[in-house]
This record gives sequence, structure tokens and C-alpha cells, in this order.
Amino acid sequence: MRTEAASLIDRLAQGHRLEKSGYRTLLESAGAEEYAYAAALADAARREVYGTAVFVRGLIEIGNICRNDCYYCGIRASNRRCARYALTKEQILACCREGYGIGFRTFVLQGGEGTLPLEQILAIIAGIRGEFPDCAITLSLGEYEASAYEEMIAAGANRYLLRHETADEAHYHKLHPATMSFRHRMRCLESLREAGFAVGCGFMVGSPFQTSETITSDLKFIEEFSPEMCGIGPFLPQRDTPFGGFPAGSADLTCFLLSLIRLIKPNVLLPSTTALGSREADGRRKGILAGANVVMPNLSPFEVRGKYALYDHKLSTGPESAQNLEALKKSLREIGFSVAVSRGDIKNI
Ligand code: SAM
Repeated sequence: MRTEAASLIDRLAQGHRLEKSGYRTLLESAGAEEYAYAAALADAARREVYGTAVFVRGLIEIGNICRNDCYYCGIRASNRRCARYALTKEQILACCREGYGIGFRTFVLQGGEGTLPLEQILAIIAGIRGEFPDCAITLSLGEYEASAYEEMIAAGANRYLLRHETADEAHYHKLHPATMSFRHRMRCLESLREAGFAVGCGFMVGSPFQTSETITSDLKFIEEFSPEMCGIGPFLPQRDTPFGGFPAGSADLTCFLLSLIRLIKPNVLLPSTTALGSREADGRRKGILAGANVVMPNLSPFEVRGKYALYDHKLSTGPESAQNLEALKKSLREIGFSVAVSRGDIKNI
């Protein structure tokens, strides 16, 4: 017999939206069968827009100095056990050169907030833009004023990832200290869009105090904001943080949510994240099969990879390493996908 959850998945696939009560029912009643059904429809939706192409981005973790104190994150300001580093412009350019040679045409610069002064960030963007005019530059450096985002665009950046973390304000304050503002983060997403960035939002699956109600708000927010990119991955505990004792988020639920997000926005650029790959053997391929179409292998210098420790047991070598692109190509070929060597911009539909 057809379940209510299966009918809701059909409605989402056709109309790309549900009322909040629909998302909640889906989250509370779907089981393994509906997860598989959503994945099949998400796969079809993705194939219609992108075929079997998976876009790769070279992820450069430019530094782990952070002024924020997010309760879940291993590079939070008050974690004294975190060995801090900040890459120089030359080191970052060297990563890009190596990545370009391997075949990457998008570089993602991610780091803690306050790793580098704005002037240095602008110089790095200009350096990459000058040397690699055919590549996209994605930033994930946190919250700035609107004018700073405008300067980053003017210097040559193209995309910006800023996970909203949770679209439920009360939940946001359970994940962050009072010095951090939910409204400012949401305003930043608007400012990024106004500045001209392709924008990515996103959240952790299974973060402490998350409920089907808060995930419903996340899905509704994604539907309404309509981001060009969306990063979701399971919450994974880091032992030196206040949330070090909480359980990890579920890989299966993460994959189900990837499928729902693909159905909400068929052309969204949707990574199968490092957190998903770290959570479960073969997590990254499961994410692709659930509807993701982006992977971001690690292109950071080997000597700093262990220091960007957002959570325990974070993968940065083997299949997560940019240097193993050939192995990634092979493992995606085995499930019927191919790595696309291109900037991998969003396809308008
Ligand atoms: N500073 C930038 C920002 O605030 O967007 C980018 C770096 S931040 C460390 C990147 C993302 O890592 C966060 O948005 C968060 O969702 C994720 N993250 C942090 N700690 C995590 C954890 N313990 N488990 C899973 N993901 C985590």
C-alpha cells in the first residue's frame, strides 16, 4: 500500500515545495523504503539537469584561527588544544597550481573566521584570479559586512558557502554562544546574494537539540532562499568541544535529506561532504547515489591537514585527497558517474 510519505515525495518531485506540515510528516514517518524512493526520484531529477557528471572542487583549508566559539566545532576560539595555522598567499597559490595540474577548475578556500585580514583575503583572491582566469573561486570564510563581500566579488571571487547551521532561531542559540547572532548570519546570506555571489547555505544533520521541527524549518528555508549550493553533512563530535559527548548524526538521514533537497531544487549544486565520507565507509558514494553531484577533495598542504580538525576522525587523505583524483574517478565510474573537469557552474533551468 502506498504510504503518505511516498505521496509527499511524489508531490515534492512534481511541485518542488511542500507546506511545513508536509515536510514534518515526511521526516517523522519515512523509513528505509521511502528513503530509497526519494533517492530514485532525486537521481532522476539530477540526471535530467546534469546527466551523470559529478563536479569536483579542490578544497584548501586556508587556516584554523577562528574568533567564533561554536559549541560543536573543533577549531572554536576557546579550544586551547587546537594547533593554529594560517597559510600564506604563496602557499595557497602553490595548492592551486598543484590542483590545476591535477584537473581542478574550482578552488574552495575555507577557514575559520578571522584567519586572515580582509586585505590579505583580497590579495589572495586577486592572485588566484590573475593566474587562473578559467577557474571559479569559492570562499567559505564566515560572516563579514556587506561591503567586504562586495570587495571580494570585485577582486574576482564567484561563490560563497555560508551554512546557516539551523533555520530555527532558538535552536541556533543552543549551538552558539550569545555573542553570535542568528539574524546576522541570515542577513549575511542576503548580502552575499546582493553582492553577486552564487550562494550556498546548509546545516549539520543530527546536531544536538535538532528535531524534525527544526529540520522542517531548514527545508522550508532552502525552498524559499533557493541557494545555488547547499552543504549538509552529519554532525560529528569533537572531543575538546562542549558537544564532544553527543552522538554523531545519521548517514542515512543525511542521504534522505540530500534527496529531498535535490527534489526541492533540481539544479542545486549539492556536495557529498567530507563529514558524510568520514561518518561511514562509502558515505561519499552513498551521497552521490542519493542525489548529490559535487565532491570537494582536500587540496590543503599535507602538513596542515590534521590541524583543520572540525571533528574527530575527519578524513583528509585516501579517497578524500585531491592527489587521489584518479581513484575518485574510478570509484564514481563503478556507480555509473563521471568526474567533470570544468568549473561546474549551476545550470539554469
Ligand atoms: N568559518 C566559516 C563559516 O563559519 O562558515 C567556514 C568554516 S566552518 C568550520 C565550516 C562548517 O563546518 C560549519 O559551517 C559547520 O557546519 C561544519 N562543522 C563544524 N563543526 C562540525 C562538526 N563537529 N561536525 C560536522 N560539521 C561541523
